[in-house]
Amino acid sequence: MGKQSGKKAKTSVPSKIASKKSSRSTSATAAVAAKKSIPACWRRPKWQTEFRRRLLGWFARNKRDLPWRRTKDPYAVWVSEIMLQQTQTPTVVRYFERFLTAFPTVQALAQAEQAEVLRLWEGLGYYRRAVQLHQAAQKIVSEFGGQFPQTVKELLQLPGIGRYTAGAILSIAFDQRQPILEANTVRLWARLLAYSEPVGSASAQRLLWYMAETVLPCRQVGRFNQALMELGSRVCLPRQPRCSECPVSRFCLAFQKGFQESLPRQRAKPTTQFSQEMALIVRRNDQVLLRRIPDGERWAGLWEFPRFPLPTELAEQSADAEAPAAKQPWLFPVAEEAVGPLEPSSEQQTGISRVRRDARFETVPKPPRRRKTRVSSDGSARFIPAAIGGFLVQQMHKQVGIVVRPIRPLGTIRYAVTRYRVQMECYEVEYLGQADRQERTDRLEQQSVGTKPKGRRLEAPAADSCQAVEPGGDFQWVRLESLEGYPMSSPARKLARLARASSGDFGKETFCEGRK
Ligand code: SF4
Repeated sequence: MGKQSGKKAKTSVPSKIASKKSSRSTSATAAVAAKKSIPACWRRPKWQTEFRRRLLGWFARNKRDLPWRRTKDPYAVWVSEIMLQQTQTPTVVRYFERFLTAFPTVQALAQAEQAEVLRLWEGLGYYRRAVQLHQAAQKIVSEFGGQFPQTVKELLQLPGIGRYTAGAILSIAFDQRQPILEANTVRLWARLLAYSEPVGSASAQRLLWYMAETVLPCRQVGRFNQALMELGSRVCLPRQPRCSECPVSRFCLAFQKGFQESLPRQRAKPTTQFSQEMALIVRRNDQVLLRRIPDGERWAGLWEFPRFPLPTELAEQSADAEAPAAKQPWLFPVAEEAVGPLEPSSEQQTGISRVRRDARFETVPKPPRRRKTRVSSDGSARFIPAAIGGFLVQQMHKQVGIVVRPIRPLGTIRYAVTRYRVQMECYEVEYLGQADRQERTDRLEQQSVGTKPKGRRLEAPAADSCQAVEPGGDFQWVRLESLEGYPMSSPARKLARLARASSGDFGKETFCEGRK
């Protein structure tokens, strides 16, 4: 036994060395290949020196006065770099100053609540950045004693920091000779080198990183990197680059050949996908129901209103319908056996009037033919199509474990997330009570043995959340005026505003009107 393990130990060391050697030789081969693909003029030291001189001269004359350029504090540089990913500079300025005022140091950020961080991030999008920024701050405090790491290896261990961000922090804050490559500089280098292959490929990335590193000066590396990014974002624009104003046009091979606008070549973009969903303002007196989005879902950590995907067959009916000429009361069939007894029974707690309770068991007259219209802010004169109303009642019952009564449509909110274009139909419903307790218990037991209903990514409340309708779980009752304190995605925030705007009408005009 001992011999065997000894043998293994003996053989494993040389094999490790061999694999290290082979990986080193592979990267060396890749570097040689990258070097060979660089046009001959760009390999000349004089060419590179002159390019740096011109670029830095232009930057000195034209750089914008941005708040993160007034400091070399690695924490501030890091925050700005994370915010600038996927976001325009003018937008970031406002957010950056507010964020740094709230969390001036990495320690302050580490101690903050995640909800506080997300609230300050609200509107910037890509909320995962904020969550990872917060996690990384906690790691810097707990594992690095609050001192900002100063090596690429250490920085890459932090959540949300990749090669680009590490290079930017180290070069700008510590003037280390580290290259950067992001969307603007990829475009710039593709044009300067007249690189006509798709820039997303591994070989293209190797070449561009190699070039970005080779051309770095020995000093003022941070300034040089910022100058590249500034030129890429302000002069070498994606469409119609301003070549006549470009300080380095004489070094630009694409410009010389006249095909700068066709570069860089990108891989085919994924096709846009359209979907429809519904979101509900569930009212209980002056409160509404919010759900905290759990980890693993899009917008994790933010709060939203209950939201469900809308089946295609219902989506066609979702355009709000105007009230028919003959205003017929129109109620939804909610069979008693489907919802069980209401609880709590007190009218004060549930806000259910005798009339409304009876109304739940009305038969539904065939809805009149309706004309589809665009949504206006005034939903009071509109009706919810019967199928939609039935669906939302069913979804709230099945997935959240509560009984609701549809009130009225509130509007349509359209938003885009990555390649998804979503149309969100918004409705107001009234909370009547909790679904039957036994039924909910049975469902939870079913889930615990692995029969949890399948869900798409955009699907809202987890089925087991029906237990958590009481404050403290994923769901929480929140007063309308307190909604501002909860971090939300842009569509949820728009809906919150719609809810507040329509709050004065709540209970005045509903489907039950005329039955009291
Ligand atoms: S010359 Fe035109 S295409 Fe070339 S780097 Fe300058 S702005 Fe970009």
